[in-house]
Amino acid sequence: MIELKSRDEMDRIAAGGAIIGALYQEIRSHIKPGVSTGELDRFAEEFIRSHDGAEPAFKGLYGFPGTVCASINEEVVHGIPSDDRILKEGDILSLDTGVRLDGWCSDSAWTFPVGEPGTATARLLEVTEAALDAAIKVAVPGKHVGDIGHAVERTVKGTGFSIIRDLVGHGIGRKVHEQPQIPNRGRPGTGPALEEGMVLAIEPMIAIGTWRIRTMEDRWTMSTTDRRPSAHFEHTVGVTGDGPLILTRALGPAVEHGPALP
Ligand code: MG
Ligand code: MG
Repeated sequence: MIELKSRDEMDRIAAGGAIIGALYQEIRSHIKPGVSTGELDRFAEEFIRSHDGAEPAFKGLYGFPGTVCASINEEVVHGIPSDDRILKEGDILSLDTGVRLDGWCSDSAWTFPVGEPGTATARLLEVTEAALDAAIKVAVPGKHVGDIGHAVERTVKGTGFSIIRDLVGHGIGRKVHEQPQIPNRGRPGTGPALEEGMVLAIEPMIAIGTWRIRTMEDRWTMSTTDRRPSAHFEHTVGVTGDGPLILTRALGPAVEHGPALP
């Protein structure tokens, strides 16, 4: 069942989501060669908890040990933060985190270059962010879940990159994962109809090489089977009659990340 949210409830989700947006702005300057994903995880947890009532929504979720999922290069999602994972020049790092505030959850992911990205990875980041942007634009009443996946496909087509097929976005609200699932591929006009009040975590994951993934020995990290890099961008988005509302952006004039509202 898809649970619809009132505009007031969307505002409450946005209050938590703004913490994630601000976190990504703050943490950006800490993502550099020599830093471990364990340090970044502690920074993120302290940052989230420094906001009254806010808690990391991923910590302990299904048993996940971290505040952030920190996935480097070929790791697509669910990388476990560790003091032994040290970033180096030319890596890309996908951070994915959730906040629970006032009983409402928000979820957002961003992929950051470590130092100067190579040409191919820079292009990968650009295309994946553009895919998220395109997907958000069609999150309006009257469209369908298939239109979201189709927007991702349209953006990626012709780039030579591939869409990770086995991982999907999701509805979100009182729980991190709610119905419906949001695949990153689809046909227009198919799947559940989008309605005012839906809140969706839209999250394209795009790889330079194969779309095939496998779970690593730690039972969490999912990596591309060809070990080529992949990127992940995600926003929590409210479907409204006034257009899509991005609920995981930092508030205020300092916003510099995130696709522009249409
Ligand atoms: Mg996420
Ligand atoms: Mg998600």
